[in-house]
Amino acid sequence: MTGNILVIGALGQVGSELVENLRAKYGKNSVIASDIKDEGHGGLYEKLDILDKDALLAIVYKYEIKNVFNLVALLSATAEKHVDYAWQLSMDGHFNVLNLAKDKIIDKIFWPSSIAVFGPNTVMDPNTVYGIAKQAGERWNEYYFNRYGVDVRSIRYPGLIGWKSLPGGGTTDYAVDIFHQARKTNTYECFLNANATLPMMMMEDAVRATIDIMEAPSEKIKVRSSYNLAADSFSPAELATEIAAHKEGFTITYKTDERDAIAASWPQSIDDSTARADWGWKHTYGTKTLVTEMLA
Ligand code: NAD
Repeated sequence: MTGNILVIGALGQVGSELVENLRAKYGKNSVIASDIKDEGHGGLYEKLDILDKDALLAIVYKYEIKNVFNLVALLSATAEKHVDYAWQLSMDGHFNVLNLAKDKIIDKIFWPSSIAVFGPNTVMDPNTVYGIAKQAGERWNEYYFNRYGVDVRSIRYPGLIGWKSLPGGGTTDYAVDIFHQARKTNTYECFLNANATLPMMMMEDAVRATIDIMEAPSEKIKVRSSYNLAADSFSPAELATEIAAHKEGFTITYKTDERDAIAASWPQSIDDSTARADWGWKHTYGTKTLVTEMLA
């Protein structure tokens, strides 16, 4: 990536780790973190509401930004409680960034999609506002690329797991919470059912993929809507068994809520061979190594 970098939604689960990695790679003065919250975690930070187009433009000019990572969204479970706002935030926020590239003010955009674009029939028939907004966002990516030559790149993240930051209201949050509870009480009450298998990924791998896809030569990015990305899949029961192998006496109980229905509508695994072939994606963490790392 050449030119300065702006990360919007930088204080979330993905953003916190992405900013740290971008700063290590490109230098701390090249990476500006921004979020709707008042204070950052240190380093260059701007308070920004992505829906405020003028404020966004002012920051882009102030720091001569050329690359934008737009991580803003209400996650799946939270979005179901604020349908109108979730849609507005996803769509208008996305357009505000896409239009900066259409107007040639910035060069490159990263925008994450999700396995939520798939629906109960494992075709693209999402039935949550989160999934519908991600699917629409993907269509706009392709439209802006084809019609205006906008260099936008996207990955469909699976459920993401990391120990450095807390999850923000998604369906796969259990797979982070379980480690915190395992440490505190050696037991966990899970809001998904025992067999709710979903594709999951260690945050390190997801962040590396995010930087790699932005670094890849443009001609290698053949999919402009969004790439499938996968590591391993597991269910809560399988994860609990793996944790119990390290933590004697660890137990899990189940009390499902509305998130279980969302999980049931998502695929249990996804084929990411196109990302592997086009720009060399490769995961490093499987379920076993992920559990070891999280417990350590
Ligand atoms: P998160 O909820 O932890 O972080 C989102 C951040 O956006 C928060 O810090 C929030 O304060 C900020 N934000 C909210 N409204 C804003 C606004 N109006 N202006 C500026 N900032 C605002 O989410 P995350 O888990 O870090 O996810 C980041 C992206 O990755 C999202 O687009 C999400 O859909 C996608 N994704 C995440 C996962 C996952 O497992 N975490 C899986 C698939 C896709």
